[in-house]
Amino acid sequence: MRKAHRPSAPESLAEHGTAWSAEFAKLRAEDASYRFQWKSYQGQRVNQHLLPHLEAMTAGHCAYCDTYPFGTDSHETIDHFLPKARFPWLAYCWENLYLACTMCQSEKEREFDSQVEPATDSSELIRPDEAGYSFQRYFLFNYESGEIEANPAASERDRERAGQALRCFGLNQGTRAQSRKRIVRNFHRATPDERAGIDDWPYRFLFDGLL
Ligand SMILES: [Zn+2]
Repeated sequence: MRKAHRPSAPESLAEHGTAWSAEFAKLRAEDASYRFQWKSYQGQRVNQHLLPHLEAMTAGHCAYCDTYPFGTDSHETIDHFLPKARFPWLAYCWENLYLACTMCQSEKEREFDSQVEPATDSSELIRPDEAGYSFQRYFLFNYESGEIEANPAASERDRERAGQALRCFGLNQGTRAQSRKRIVRNFHRATPDERAGIDDWPYRFLFDGLL
């Protein structure tokens, strides 16, 4: 997860976000099985309207694992950080929306989106755009295994939050560690010109200190 800076809310949400969220919350309250569907705005689905704004925030990378570019294994999606099923009044809240890959989203869903009260407190989960966030504060990269680990020098609470984020976004699941090791090898072999376009690389949090 790389530090992100959130631009101001796009006009669709600035103008209508509160009303759209309230409408969805009302429909959900009346019928718990009511399914979320993005509203339309200026002839476009709101998610389509939002994508370029969210892409600008992370240069088109997944806000959680920093994968790039999105591909066939992991598509681009918009994640509701606090799940809309349990926080319907945040469905169109700009600060609750992140560009994510489907893998991070499904890992996170498994943890949080159940109707029963989840074991972890989602309000504690680390956000890439929160004040004071940096990769180094919470995590370190194990160059041998390719895994991301909680920073042992961090405070107890920060280490807890790091562990929660690693689990909730599945940051060491599947082939992710191998994929990071491969990218690190490629990065070290790359020419200075190739390295300079940092936004062309995935997992930028691994290279920020090296540039
Ligand atoms: Zn991801």
